[in-house]
Amino acid sequence: MNCIKMKKILIANRGEIAIRVMKTARKMGIKTVAIYSKADRNALHVRFADEAVYIGEAPSNKSYLLGDKIIKEAKKLYVDGIHPGYGFLSENAHFAELCEKNGIIFIGPKSKSIKIMGDKLAAKDAVKHYNIPMVPGVDRAVTNPKEAADIAREIGFPILIKASAGGGGKGMRIVEQEKDVEEQMARAISEATSAFGNGSVFVEKYITSPRHIEIQVLADSYGNTLHLFERECSIQRRHQKVVEEAPSSILDPELRKKMGDAAIKVAKSCDYLGAGTVEFLVDKNLNFYFLEMNTRLQVEHPVTELISGIDLVEQQIKIARGEVISFKQEDLKIKGHALELRVYAEDPTNNFLPSVGNLNIYKIPTGKGIRVDNGFEQGMDIPIYYDPMLSKLITYGKTREEAIQLMIEAIDNYKIEGVKTTLPFGKFVCNHEAFRSGKFDTHFVKNYFTDQVLQISLNEEAQIAATMALKIYLEDQQKLKIPIN
Ligand code: ADP
Repeated sequence: MNCIKMKKILIANRGEIAIRVMKTARKMGIKTVAIYSKADRNALHVRFADEAVYIGEAPSNKSYLLGDKIIKEAKKLYVDGIHPGYGFLSENAHFAELCEKNGIIFIGPKSKSIKIMGDKLAAKDAVKHYNIPMVPGVDRAVTNPKEAADIAREIGFPILIKASAGGGGKGMRIVEQEKDVEEQMARAISEATSAFGNGSVFVEKYITSPRHIEIQVLADSYGNTLHLFERECSIQRRHQKVVEEAPSSILDPELRKKMGDAAIKVAKSCDYLGAGTVEFLVDKNLNFYFLEMNTRLQVEHPVTELISGIDLVEQQIKIARGEVISFKQEDLKIKGHALELRVYAEDPTNNFLPSVGNLNIYKIPTGKGIRVDNGFEQGMDIPIYYDPMLSKLITYGKTREEAIQLMIEAIDNYKIEGVKTTLPFGKFVCNHEAFRSGKFDTHFVKNYFTDQVLQISLNEEAQIAATMALKIYLEDQQKLKIPIN
């Protein structure tokens, strides 16, 4: 085994994930370098690092996305490796290649794998020889509406027109009837062109009541590829995840093994290296279909860490250093249940629109079974330039019920004032019968959640709090009236 030394790494990211990566690096005795934009001069990740370099103006295309500049700074500081986190440059094959060319280890897969999996059509093409179940549809770009209509008739409506280069839940259009195909195609192509600089779209069957279940994989450079079970990510808004958990309540050991094996094959199809995630849709009859592979650390990776006891960032670094994965598939066991709520500065009573401002009060909950991967502190402004996620609130218990209960308590003890957040939404989910019983799908928000529902429960909560306060006040008054005789 030929291990490479890694004494110092640069984290090409910001917020909670930059801090998360630094914590593991520190534990491993590796020095850390933060990068920051003008808007992040006083950010926590900058103070947490051993060294920090200013990279540019606030907009990400003038800072966090400047691959060349980041590499130049990394070289100046004798950095051995770059961890890209998620988002920004993490799935940019050119950046990974640039690191490779400059003698800096990119802590992630090889650029070739990123390139294949970054394009949904190329990904389908790569996995098609591996007997992986795919969503019915075509695995080539479609530009002609007539062709799209023919395909739709064959696979049956509703269909989904998807951008090949799509991501973040963007570039998707559901078409219910044949008469709408032409118009929706034109829109999808123009949207994909403006959002991703690539107008290539394709057609898939729209699975009407699916669950989004993904498998965490790890692969080293010695041909060992294994999986670390699943994450259930069906609670979404705008096709983007808000609540995740592990394990999923609908997988039994047999289906877990089948999906795990399929995920390993997907990873092998692109010569994967490091930590990656293979996403699937699972229909009502528990048929599963390959959706895409994310070639980076996922936002929701902590739930896997908690149920498996494996530090995924540590594994990423070790694999990048050329080490063999030190455990086997049979060594891995699921222990307990973990739940994650993405705490976004968004207003759930107003369509989850970003709610920027100053964090007048910001107190995170602590306690056994509670983990908060956080990037903010009291008094900070939330910059308008980046993803509005403040933190991830994660709970861990012996059972699903325990993790849910702990989440409700942790939400109550998370004090944020100054911006609206997804905390009350998280509580709504945790208290909802469909979520509690495990009988839900990706349409949870559409089916059960309206702005009014939350408003009503918020008002009820406020009323209960007011009644309690009044009761305590009256009781205190009572106590004060000491009888004089
Ligand atoms: P992105 O790369 O933008 O995240 P994905 O392909 O991962 O897009 O899909 C995101 C979400 O969109 C899924 O979790 C699911 O909720 C929905 N979705 C995607 N494809 C389908 C489909 N064929 N049928 C039903 N829902 C889908």
